Amino acid sequence: MYRTHTCNDLRAADEGKTVTLAGWVHTIRLHGSLCFLDLRDRYGITQITLDTEQFPEVKTLRKEFVIQISGTVKKKPTPNVKLATGEIEVVAEKFEVLNTCEILPLDLENIQGTTDDVRLKYRYLDLRRSQMRDNFILRHKAAQAAREYLNSQDFLEIETPLLIRSTPEGARDYLVPSRIHHGAAYSLPQSPQIYKQLLMVSGFDRYYQLARCLRDEDLRADRQPEFTQIDIEMSYVHQDDVFAIGEGLVKNILKKTINYDLKTPWPRITYDEAMAKYGIDKPDIRFELFLHDLTDAVKGSDFAVFNAALESNGSVIGLAVDKEFTRKETDELTAIAKIYKAKGLVTLRVSDTEGTIKLEGSAANHLSTEIQRNIIKELGAKPKSTIFIVADAFKISREAMAYVRKELGQRLHLYDEKEFAFCWVYDFPSFEWNPDEEKWDPAHHIFTSPKLEHLDYLETDPGKVRALCYDMVLNGIELASGSIRINRRDVQSRVMNVIGLTLEDAEQKFGFLLEAFKYGAPPHGGFAIGFDRIVALICGTNDIREVIAYPKNRQGQNPMDDCPSPMDEKALRDIGLKIEKK
Ligand code: ASP
Repeated sequence: MYRTHTCNDLRAADEGKTVTLAGWVHTIRLHGSLCFLDLRDRYGITQITLDTEQFPEVKTLRKEFVIQISGTVKKKPTPNVKLATGEIEVVAEKFEVLNTCEILPLDLENIQGTTDDVRLKYRYLDLRRSQMRDNFILRHKAAQAAREYLNSQDFLEIETPLLIRSTPEGARDYLVPSRIHHGAAYSLPQSPQIYKQLLMVSGFDRYYQLARCLRDEDLRADRQPEFTQIDIEMSYVHQDDVFAIGEGLVKNILKKTINYDLKTPWPRITYDEAMAKYGIDKPDIRFELFLHDLTDAVKGSDFAVFNAALESNGSVIGLAVDKEFTRKETDELTAIAKIYKAKGLVTLRVSDTEGTIKLEGSAANHLSTEIQRNIIKELGAKPKSTIFIVADAFKISREAMAYVRKELGQRLHLYDEKEFAFCWVYDFPSFEWNPDEEKWDPAHHIFTSPKLEHLDYLETDPGKVRALCYDMVLNGIELASGSIRINRRDVQSRVMNVIGLTLEDAEQKFGFLLEAFKYGAPPHGGFAIGFDRIVALICGTNDIREVIAYPKNRQGQNPMDDCPSPMDEKALRDIGLKIEKK
């Protein structure tokens, strides 16, 4: 037997037992003729005491050697309260080095100064750290909790293929050229979307999968080319039924991972309300600092910034905070607005001079008393508060203010960092106008059903059509999205008409799904939660790489196994490919 106990098992009650432990040398200290070492395994740490005269070879031990020791459990005179096993030590009677270890290329105790690429190159060592171990234990519990809840709701876990035709998520596919069929390739799934819909046609009724998704996208800080979703599809459901499952699922995950009691149902916010109050379709509802549309309030001013926005059909969006700001602070907030393409951030201070409330700041000179009053009233601003305004195109003014709001929330500690504030955002527009190509683009994948009461607008006014699609949002982060799907061919072809996709185009891409819809496809809908993302947020990080065992770096490479790697000539010939050097 390699061990009788793990390094987290022994307590005072075990005093006097003879035990065998195995693990890594976590720390080692020589003290006269005694050697104290902390022995570590996945479960914890146990202090071992060795007599260097009895075991002279302990002097050659270094951190991270793998050893096995047998000995007697002794109670410590002064317990180490930092360790679960801190009441005891094991006094070694037998000791063996199972393996040596070279000097580590990274410091497991202090990762601060280590570059991301070194962490990824030696990921197997990075994963020895207790923080990473804890993240993966939590990830495991989250997966179990998801399965537990979905199983309890009659869902079936079904795997869908990895080598497939193509999926409609809108990113680029990774391709796998076929050796047998030269010139043809499989796609790796961007999601199991079509396959889960087909499972509904088959009558499975409720499906889930912890599904790998692969998208060949430009990598951003928080993206990975492959990631995991809790992917769900259900038959005979309305939006509300889907919301109930999403809420129950997340509630169980939070309960079973960190014992957090999440209140349900969550607030439901329409897309229009989210855009109006938060300026963004993923609102952080932990704090109630709302945006206001000042477009009407500022009409007729002689402030060129406002007028330029009004003349080009833009908006003037503002908010008021009950606080005064320094020049440096307002400059920093302006810089944030500019990241989101705003031309600037108008800052005004509300003053109360002898009972006359008015605005101060360079823009104030261009605003009549009446307009100043309009602004103060619309924002509900109090004396000594500060007003921030962006006047710009519709989307820019809202988005820039959304991020100014977010920054204010963080700086002014307007929320509890530990809170999980979920909401559903729904009623998204089905189509977006593409001014360059003068056509309607789909705002979601093409199987997303329009609201049934909006079907008539498909031909008359596509801009009015709202979709039966929804996002699950947590603290301002989109965690999941989904929709009720189109299950009828006639509706599908009308939607495709709007976006200028012919039935032939669609047949070529997704013909097998459209064909399946001829054979009694039930009404169905679903969603997919970013599993890495929710686990990361529960672990208290925004970086999904902290909860993925072997992630890629920001260039899409893995410094550990050095992929992607050059392809050899023979492999290329086998799959019938010739590479042209750039
Ligand atoms: N397949 C969608 C996605 O990956 C989720 C869904 O609509 O179920 O975002």
